[in-house]
Amino acid sequence: MIKSNVAELLNSDKIAHEVHVKGWVRTFRSNRFIALNDGSTINNIQCVIDFENTEEETLKHISTGAAVAITGTLIESQGKGQKVEIQTSKIEILGTSNPEEYPIQPKKHSLEFLRENAHLRIRTNTFAAVMRVRARLSFAVHKYFTENGFYNFHAPIITGSDAEGAGEMFKVSVFEPNEAPKTEDGSIDYSQDFFGKETNLTVSGQLEAETYAMALGKVYTFGPTFRAENSNTTRHLAEFWMVEPEVAFMDLDGNMDLGEDFIKAVIDDVLVNCKDDIEFLEQRLLQEEKSKPANERSEMSLIDKLKFVTKNNFMRVSYTEAIDILRDSKPNKKKKFKFPINEWGADLQSEHERFLVEKHFKCPVILFDYPADIKAFYMRLNDDGKTVRAMDILFPGIGEIVGGAQREERLDVLKEKIAALGIDEKELWWYLDTRKFGTAVHSGFGLGFERLVQFVTGMGNIRDVIPFPRTPQNADF
Ligand code: ATP
Ligand code: MN
Repeated sequence: MIKSNVAELLNSDKIAHEVHVKGWVRTFRSNRFIALNDGSTINNIQCVIDFENTEEETLKHISTGAAVAITGTLIESQGKGQKVEIQTSKIEILGTSNPEEYPIQPKKHSLEFLRENAHLRIRTNTFAAVMRVRARLSFAVHKYFTENGFYNFHAPIITGSDAEGAGEMFKVSVFEPNEAPKTEDGSIDYSQDFFGKETNLTVSGQLEAETYAMALGKVYTFGPTFRAENSNTTRHLAEFWMVEPEVAFMDLDGNMDLGEDFIKAVIDDVLVNCKDDIEFLEQRLLQEEKSKPANERSEMSLIDKLKFVTKNNFMRVSYTEAIDILRDSKPNKKKKFKFPINEWGADLQSEHERFLVEKHFKCPVILFDYPADIKAFYMRLNDDGKTVRAMDILFPGIGEIVGGAQREERLDVLKEKIAALGIDEKELWWYLDTRKFGTAVHSGFGLGFERLVQFVTGMGNIRDVIPFPRTPQNADF
């Protein structure tokens, strides 16, 4: 007989049909009712056991976590809480699970405990919901770009350029730490290493994506990126996935439009296609909020927050306007900011970004035209000579979710920038070639995929939206 999945059966009208499912026991109560889950949906199907005709040995092995195969008849449920259930005629234990040892019991576990059991936490409702949403979001990213004429571009993961400037890098080398050959001056001789030069794990696919945009027009990368920064926050990972579109002939306004339209489209997609999971996560968040002091609770439910983002325009504000707002703000005057805002040119910290988004504008904000000094070398210099065409999209509860820019397309200006930073032009010869041969206005951005998943699922810690998080002092599994 054909195996069905639980999602199909719960929506099925094949009452009185014989069905066959395989899954894991979530709970087993009164020696009679199995709540079975197979990952296809947040919901379990109830399987009613005919315990008089079930062997003692089998009954003994029906416990939380066990894998079972069930054959039976789909019937309208007698009990509350479900439309249909399975009247079991045959149950086969595929894999037992000793209840004394199985860490995932049918009770509330802390997220910290589950993080230590990241290989099993996916068997809880919360993590299964988060990861199904993550999978759908990933698909929605590819769908959005493909349908809008973008080509997916696989940026290299091992990079030979160390001038990307987006963060501390992880070295890639085949040398044994103590046996690395040295040059005459005592430094490590990378010319004898695997690639014949120093190489690192990429921090961003942008520079490479730019070269592709200058031929394919619209491209995007969606791959892993690595940063060896020692930031133990709820928004930073050492390994995370980044979505980076790059578009030729598009200026900063186009870039802001793209960022906003893209985020709205993927959120709309999951609202439609992950309804049950989002509803579950909304309830989870509601419970979590209840344990917070009243003034820290969110005013909106998860779904309201998501709909609010998809239905309202993001507020576009220049860095200069933002500084004025921050300087005159209550927390600044009352010295509540850890980093007070005194003058133009200050780098914005997460506390400032969150003030603007959560307290002042109360909606997503796109900040643009930042001081050149606090942004990367490849961002296009404005005519004022001191700001660049950068944009960051800031989200409530998250802070920066997108960082992007119109790129400096003028060879002479770019060269000056590179020289001023003391970067050797030769390192970037291939990048500069894009400005030498058929240069054009172009723009792009990087969206931290996990931060998007955080926003959509309402999870507070970024470690809980990636299967196996890598953070300082932690690379288990
Ligand atoms: P932040 O200031 O939050 O550390 P950033 O300015 O260093 O971020 P960018 O270099 O602009 O980040 O990277 C683009 C996007 O990648 C960011 O907007 C963010 O969404 C995401 N991102 C950056 N660093 C991390 C990280 N360590 N873990 C997860 N996501 C990250
Ligand atoms: Mn940034």
